[in-house]
Amino acid sequence: MAFNINDVLSDFPILSQRVNDERLAYLDNAATAQRPRQVLAALQDFYTHDNANVHRGVHTLAERATEDYEGARVKVQHFINARSSAEVIFTKGCTDALNLVAASYGEANIQAGDEIVISIMEHHSNLIPWQQLARHKHATLKYIGLTAQGQLDMAAARRQITDRTKIVAVTHASNVLGTVNPLKELAVLAHQHKAVIVGDGAQAVGHMPVDVQDLDVDFYAFSGHKMMGPMGIGVLYGKAALLRAMPPYQYGGEMIGDVHRDDSTWADIPFKFEAGTQNVAGAVGLGAAVDYLQGLGMDNIQARERELVTAVLPRLTALPYLTVYGPQDPRQHTGVLAFNLAHLHPHDVATALDMEGVAVRAGHHCAQPLMEELGVTTTARASFAFYNTREDTDQLIRAIKETKEFFNRGTI
Ligand code: PMP
Repeated sequence: MAFNINDVLSDFPILSQRVNDERLAYLDNAATAQRPRQVLAALQDFYTHDNANVHRGVHTLAERATEDYEGARVKVQHFINARSSAEVIFTKGCTDALNLVAASYGEANIQAGDEIVISIMEHHSNLIPWQQLARHKHATLKYIGLTAQGQLDMAAARRQITDRTKIVAVTHASNVLGTVNPLKELAVLAHQHKAVIVGDGAQAVGHMPVDVQDLDVDFYAFSGHKMMGPMGIGVLYGKAALLRAMPPYQYGGEMIGDVHRDDSTWADIPFKFEAGTQNVAGAVGLGAAVDYLQGLGMDNIQARERELVTAVLPRLTALPYLTVYGPQDPRQHTGVLAFNLAHLHPHDVATALDMEGVAVRAGHHCAQPLMEELGVTTTARASFAFYNTREDTDQLIRAIKETKEFFNRGTI
């Protein structure tokens, strides 16, 4: 059953404020989402009652903090349907998780002449780690391009992924085009060639149901703050056998078995990859975000975001002075919509929209090779979440029209 939007909105007090004397339409969810009261309360509760360092104490608070932290791991495990909670590694975020795979798995498994295949729509955090790995290993980085409709070119993927491919790393959903990629199909393709597949879930988790076993991805990375959790916490999911065979990413406390003067052994997963004091409160907040999202239902969340995109996308594409990038079919879309308004600079557009209370982002969205592919340097981007409303879509359209008039009095 769908959720009640008024109940949802009452959980997000930040959304009910006014900016520049206008009602706030927060459409920058791809950059970071807002947190419901329940997540804020979990952070407050943790610091008020349970705060202690985890795993290394026998006193009551340390035990409670450890239970909170490990409980959050189990929540994440069930949320993404990992086989075991040991396959859930807490990181600083999606970027950190992807760097972990490149540094650890990449270091151990990539050799000169190997190929790494990514897509042209990758965020820099799923691009630069592979680019640099390829460079210092004398491996080759290959890109899967786009179709004219802004989707991943699967025919090109079939050509690019070969027996030389060792890693395929592709985003589950684009942070610019809103395209949802067929990760499951790509996993089959990668595995046929004995390559591993890494999914970047930053724009997918929190917006659609994600089942890592069904997708059969080997690694999957995402950030807490884009799924209503805190900043500074993220997750790397990895298949246990792969994680166990990988060398540590960082060294220090908590990740060891035994340490001797000249040699050391490592703890089992997930601790092998969690060196030093972790963001325990962040993990607890992420656990609360998972509870919240599951309470609404991921199918309901996806349906609501699709409903909003179905309402707003044709209205955007109908504006003759607007170029909208990405698939035109709302069924192939997340709530992310990138556009340019005639010859206006996207930063001017975003500033003008802000004057109307509409928060959007402008820039290259950490996807410069994609910008180059689209033939632009920057775009504006509106990105929706389940708590957005029809009023938000109306306000966006109205503000775009007013911006156009304000700048050119109808001459652009
Ligand atoms: N991948 C994608 C697709 C993203 O949208 C982002 C964040 N914009 C990231 C990776 C990186 O996430 P974070 O900055 O939270 O590490």
